[in-house]
Amino acid sequence: MHLTDLTRRYIRQTQLAEIGDEGQQRLSQTRVLIIGAGGIGAPALTYLNAAGVGTLGIIDADRVEISNLNRQILFEEADIGRPKTDAARDALEEQNSATRIITHAHAITAENAAAIINDYDIILDGCDDFSTRHTVNHACVILKKPLISASVIGWGGQLTSFDARRPDSPCYACFVHPDAPNANNCTSGGVVGAVAGAIGSMAALEVMHAALGTPQLIGKIMTLNGHNFDQRSMILMRDSHCPVCA
Ligand SMILES: [Zn+2]
Repeated sequence: MHLTDLTRRYIRQTQLAEIGDEGQQRLSQTRVLIIGAGGIGAPALTYLNAAGVGTLGIIDADRVEISNLNRQILFEEADIGRPKTDAARDALEEQNSATRIITHAHAITAENAAAIINDYDIILDGCDDFSTRHTVNHACVILKKPLISASVIGWGGQLTSFDARRPDSPCYACFVHPDAPNANNCTSGGVVGAVAGAIGSMAALEVMHAALGTPQLIGKIMTLNGHNFDQRSMILMRDSHCPVCA
């Protein structure tokens, strides 16, 4: 088979009525930025790359460490010490040579966020700190970009989705106030790799829904308890006093 035989490559998903050839075309034209090539970013990037999303941006300032390998499945032992963006790009290019991979090997900050995010259609935030999440959210509200937000701590994970183009959509700051004291993040807290894998895969799924115009998690937050397999979905309301989107 030719590697460029796109019809055959994606037939298992174009067979689905909700995707079809038209949906595949949309995926191929979609530009997705993944914030953080970590426990969520690795599985999300892998599935989005496999699904034929045309452009994948990766932003991460870190280098691969041995303690990343329990969950960051894009990386191998030989990658330890390399910039995560380089190691991720190499792995993704081997998986799907047609994808355009763009790397940003630095942190996302209040100064650069808008310029970077403006070049993408959909943003997936899988980073591990609250101040970055608020910076990304703020830029997504201003630029009216769909934002999928995923996180994992310990045995648990959560996933939700925002779209500032929709008047009923909350934003991340409606959910976590920018002045709230920072809770644990996975750098300090520990995390089960398979839980990050499950949430990262579901985040990729919501990115696909958003690209196809059928986002499922706006105004809703999905939580997974990897300890007892409880999965819940709760309503997330827009806050009329939100300091960012109100
Ligand atoms: Zn808000």
